[in-house]
Amino acid sequence: LDVLVIGSGGREHAIVKAVKKSPLCGRLVCTPANGGIELDCETAAIKADDISGIVEFARGGKFDLVICGPEIPLSMGLADALRAEGISVYGPNKDGATLEASKAFSKNFLKKYSIPTAAGENFTDFKSAKKFIEEAPFDVVIKASGLAAGKGVVIPSTKEEAVEAAREMLEGGVFGESGREIVVEEKMEGEEASIMLMVCGTNYIMLPPSQDHKRVGEGDTGLNTGGMGAYAPAAVATEEVLEKVRKDIVSPTLEGLKKEGIDYRGTLYVGIMITAQGPKVVEFNVRFGDPECQVLLPLLKTDALELMNNIANGSLDSSKVEIKDEFAVVVVVCAKGYPDSYKKGDVISLPKTETEGAYVIHSGTKRGSDGEILTNGGRVLGMTATGKTLREALDKAYKLCGETSFDGAFYRRDIAHRQLKRDLQ
Ligand code: ATP
Repeated sequence: LDVLVIGSGGREHAIVKAVKKSPLCGRLVCTPANGGIELDCETAAIKADDISGIVEFARGGKFDLVICGPEIPLSMGLADALRAEGISVYGPNKDGATLEASKAFSKNFLKKYSIPTAAGENFTDFKSAKKFIEEAPFDVVIKASGLAAGKGVVIPSTKEEAVEAAREMLEGGVFGESGREIVVEEKMEGEEASIMLMVCGTNYIMLPPSQDHKRVGEGDTGLNTGGMGAYAPAAVATEEVLEKVRKDIVSPTLEGLKKEGIDYRGTLYVGIMITAQGPKVVEFNVRFGDPECQVLLPLLKTDALELMNNIANGSLDSSKVEIKDEFAVVVVVCAKGYPDSYKKGDVISLPKTETEGAYVIHSGTKRGSDGEILTNGGRVLGMTATGKTLREALDKAYKLCGETSFDGAFYRRDIAHRQLKRDLQ
């Protein structure tokens, strides 16, 4: 199979590595890629949001399958455009991508199909939002409905702050078009987990539950980031929780999509909060989480390319999919200053001891003119490792961190701390 992967982050590097391992893989191209992906496969220079450019390239290259990593092209209709050309795609059409592109749509969807989530309402008018916030018998969070690169959620400490956040979005235009509509919802309490599904209509496989680490600092302190590390499986999502997720969340979601006439084919990421009343949906994403993707694909025993191709073609046999009985960890190595401003272009010294079970995933890197690898983003590398135990996987990932250097490199030393504490109990 000739495969085209769209995107340039750690997620796409993890996808490229998984696809490349498959005996079914023929020509493999990634666009626009990064410094590490360039070492693993052919690359092109078409940007991920250049829909017509990608379609033309995919048609010209006679690719059998396009795997789309990020959400933006999906929300712009990349999958629809490729399917119209008869090209198979792993990734939902624009209608399905709305689950992520519009939190207002997804709130309405969750309510319509009685799927557990925070109570809340959508608003475009500030006065009505203010009234709702002031009268709500619960603390609220304020969310810009549209895509905001993970920055569109405000968790206020007082109702006044909540009203102010709503005003800034609806009247101040802080998130531009994305904040023209907002969701005001109940603040939930509990531990979060990521549930990644590979979906083919109403058929699906559930990958092991994982946990990301959003804050930049150890002990979950400091600013929010794109994700500083992840591990799987996360035991906080017990079998009992997962059973509820399957029954109360996944089944009605996939049935609901079908009723809405949406033929969903691709990853559906369900962010859940495990509350005292059971798991509730925090958000939907329509693609793999990054860095979660880096720990989930290595846990697939089944050929990842075959699986994604079957899903793209509408023929998933979920009974045949096998998951390894192992742990996986990724520790993200960042550039000094991230998630605020950071510099780019520093030379990276990479570890020399990569193995099948412990290797480097590139996120923000590029190749210099002499072939050297340079920093090119805030999250630079993901040290990914698998092991029979969580400890073993962590030791391997941190060993790689210790063997890596560039000016100002830093990483969190407490990835999986929640799970380690649970293991001690
Ligand atoms: P992401 O970058 O994860 O896609 P996002 O901008 O799409 O983020 P959400 O995932 O909806 O936004 O929210 C971001 C974070 O805010 C959540 O991971 C969670 O920690 C917190 N959050 C969101 N909604 C609630 C809620 N109702 N109660 C408590 N915390 C919440």
